[in-house]
Amino acid sequence: MQRTLAIVKPDGVAKGYIGEVVKRIEADGLKIIAMRMELLTQTKAEGFYYVHKERPFFNDLIAFMTESPVVLMCLEGEDAIARWRGLMGATNPENADPGTIRKDMATNIERNVVHGSDAPETAAFEVDYFFKGSEIMG
Ligand code: GDP
Repeated sequence: MQRTLAIVKPDGVAKGYIGEVVKRIEADGLKIIAMRMELLTQTKAEGFYYVHKERPFFNDLIAFMTESPVVLMCLEGEDAIARWRGLMGATNPENADPGTIRKDMATNIERNVVHGSDAPETAAFEVDYFFKGSEIMG
């Protein structure tokens, strides 16, 4: 069993894609064990994406992630990290496989609807970053 962090980003929430994303997660058999809507502060978003702080797109990414609310989820299942990344598709929707969330719903490489942890260590950090143990219904 694995846990991973999923986020419906501001563009996904604003465009009304929360339901479609949740539907795809549940249809795949992944279990949502925590869920909350939040307007990220600059500090919270910067801390979350600290690995990207030297990248040229960092300031744009933080502005995007704080422009309107996100939906935060913790998912659980066998191989949950790779399964959720598979449902999401490639970072750049132009490279995403047909039938993935990003291929179907993303605008561009930045406004790409969803986030998912990419490894067990980042999943542990990211789930803990947003959820207290008592908020996780595992
Ligand atoms: P992910 O794990 O697939 O989300 O991709 P990354 O960890 O590489 O990047 C984190 C997020 O930063 C992406 O999901 C995009 O929202 C954004 N991003 C990544 N690459 C670029 C880029 O080249 N330009 C811009 N503007 N945003 C980017």
